[in-house]
Amino acid sequence: MKKSRISGLHRLDVPARIAELQRLGWLSEADAGLLAHGGHVLLTSSADKMIENVVGVFGLPFAIVPNLLVNGRDYIVPMVVEEPSIVAGVSNAAKLSREMGGITAASSESLLAGQIHITKIGNVETALSALGEAQEELLAAANAVHPRLIERGGGARELETHLLELSGERAAIAAHLLVDTRDAMGANLVNTMCEAIAPRVAELCGGQVALRILSNLTDRSLVNARVQFQLDETVRDGIVLASDIAQADPYRAATHNKGVMNGIDAVAIATGNDWRAIEAGAHAFAASSGRYLPMATWSVSADGALRGELTIPLKVGTVGGTRDVNPAARLGLRIAGVEAAQELAELMAATGLLQNFAALRALATSGIQAGHMKLHARSVALSAGVPDALFDEVVAELTAGGEIKAWRAQEILAEKQDKARTGEGSAGHAAGKIILLGEHAVVYGRHALALPVSNAVVATVSAGGASLHPPEIESMVGLIRRELGIDEHYSVTVSSALPIAMGLGASAAFAVAIVRAFDAELGKGLDDAAVNAIAFKCERLAHGTPSGIDNTIATFGQSMLFRRGDVLEANPLNLNEVPPIVIGCSHTTGLTRDLVDGVRSRRERNPGHYDSIFDQMDALSREGAQALQVSDYGKLGELMNVNHGLLNAIGVSTPELENMVSLARAAGATGAKLTGAGGGGSIVALCPGKVEQVRAALEAAGFRTLELDQE
Ligand code: NAD
Repeated sequence: MKKSRISGLHRLDVPARIAELQRLGWLSEADAGLLAHGGHVLLTSSADKMIENVVGVFGLPFAIVPNLLVNGRDYIVPMVVEEPSIVAGVSNAAKLSREMGGITAASSESLLAGQIHITKIGNVETALSALGEAQEELLAAANAVHPRLIERGGGARELETHLLELSGERAAIAAHLLVDTRDAMGANLVNTMCEAIAPRVAELCGGQVALRILSNLTDRSLVNARVQFQLDETVRDGIVLASDIAQADPYRAATHNKGVMNGIDAVAIATGNDWRAIEAGAHAFAASSGRYLPMATWSVSADGALRGELTIPLKVGTVGGTRDVNPAARLGLRIAGVEAAQELAELMAATGLLQNFAALRALATSGIQAGHMKLHARSVALSAGVPDALFDEVVAELTAGGEIKAWRAQEILAEKQDKARTGEGSAGHAAGKIILLGEHAVVYGRHALALPVSNAVVATVSAGGASLHPPEIESMVGLIRRELGIDEHYSVTVSSALPIAMGLGASAAFAVAIVRAFDAELGKGLDDAAVNAIAFKCERLAHGTPSGIDNTIATFGQSMLFRRGDVLEANPLNLNEVPPIVIGCSHTTGLTRDLVDGVRSRRERNPGHYDSIFDQMDALSREGAQALQVSDYGKLGELMNVNHGLLNAIGVSTPELENMVSLARAAGATGAKLTGAGGGGSIVALCPGKVEQVRAALEAAGFRTLELDQE
């Protein structure tokens, strides 16, 4: 039995989270692959078949909630929702609910009512009794429309009648055909049945058919969920008070129920269900007593526990609708792992109840704003493009200031960056690098061609304080301080456009930027050679035996043709322009040392073949340097493609990198290849006139991109 109690999922990045869920058996290898490469996303061509005037598809976050225990079974729940704190709220509440046995959810029936409205009736009494007598005939006629439904154990079960008074003293009869639609939500199934029997119903009533369509007030599909929590008495009583207030105040009940629906709608969307139908049913049911009431209520049990109960109409499906077209909905259903529609409805009710608890607990304790606002501040900072290194600081300031708006995030960011450039503290810049041609061959004394990613990294140092952002720079900063003989305290912040461990020279660029920032702050007047020498020591500390290319490019920020003999030869190239290059980052970090070792042992087995490949790579780098200097991108692209083939031949490419290279070429790149050690990391694509197209193609497939000039 798989356990859904999973801790620390929120601390992983997306690829690691997917890998962890696969490792724990919650995602199959195929589904993990779909998620990792965006293969679950609806294609525009499929969307165009679903609705009218399609111009694209629209994205929303797709998350999973661990920890659920419902009716003694472990579940993880898929959720699609844009509002922060919902997923975290349900996940925490689910964890807590396990202490008292989880949630119990039940539904005794799952019937959908189709309504046939008849007006202009001669005699209402006669009409009602005629319908009563013809019940069997009408049910048989309805069932004849959907013989497959009967085979599946479903079908029309009852015919109910309701007498309605319309304005102007007119009467109408609503005949309700109650249908067991099995695993389908059943809207279309029931509508066809209603259309089929409506003429006969009108005839029996001696009236006319007005309407014939399902009702979304699905109160013959009620689901009940219950949970208990052992809580601190003050919090428990605060939640009960909130529940009592919702009973008495429809204004509050609406917000209370919105909290329930936060959980339910997110699961509905993730599993391809019609959330408008669910919403309509829920609120109509909440008001069915004539007064709008909370659907979830909280009280204290005899043994002092907090007891919650939710009753809600949920007529949902696991088949039909648009699921066959939308791969994300099918994936959501596989994640939920439910076998039948009623089981899905029970899981949704459990999620809604937990979400309501999470919201009420936050209200009853610190107030919902604190937790919510922190998460909200994170999404605002993200949308404002705050770089990773300053992210936590900007979020903290945004939350503390209370004005959580994108303009404010940008203002705080600008203040921090200005502070770095002027006045307090000093800044240092450094470039990232891409190897355009010749990686691996360079280890064996051949040429390699490398280009800078300019202004990719900025470091700031300021006197006083001793904070480090990100904290991982600690040993690097320690070494730099020793090299520069610095004893006083300084805070160091590095802001980087480069992802780490992606073959883009981030660690060397960090070192160069930090050395320069200290140099500016202390007025040491280091020249580039001195900066480069210290950065090389940092690289040695981090990587053992680095080639020296990364720190050289990071320092000089210039394209260069390299050759590694006893010392590194670096020949700067003069370029007329920044080449039209797009960098695409895979979801995997390649371990340079392992990859270099792998190539070494394969070369030992086949020295002749490998050396001739390295000779070819050498020629490619030298020719490439010439083509680059005259901006001959057609030629350069071809050389890159050949180089990629050779890198594949020596075993450092991966299916993901091959996919990215193909995507870039298909979108118009003249050349595309992996860059750096391979085994993951990044690709480079040369795209004269096609930069935006190649970027868009890689991003649509879920890959982060960068350009050469970060200004
Ligand atoms: P549907 O029309 O796709 O019908 C379900 C299909 O699944 C049937 O063909 C049935 O034969 C098949 N099926 C296979 N296995 C089954 C099983 N185990 N149990 C039951 N059926 C099985 O889907 P639907 O559920 O009839 O209609 C849902 C759609 O209708 C939704 O997309 C909804 O948005 C839409 N809709 C809603 C409303 C409303 O809510 N007011 C009105 C009209 C349409």
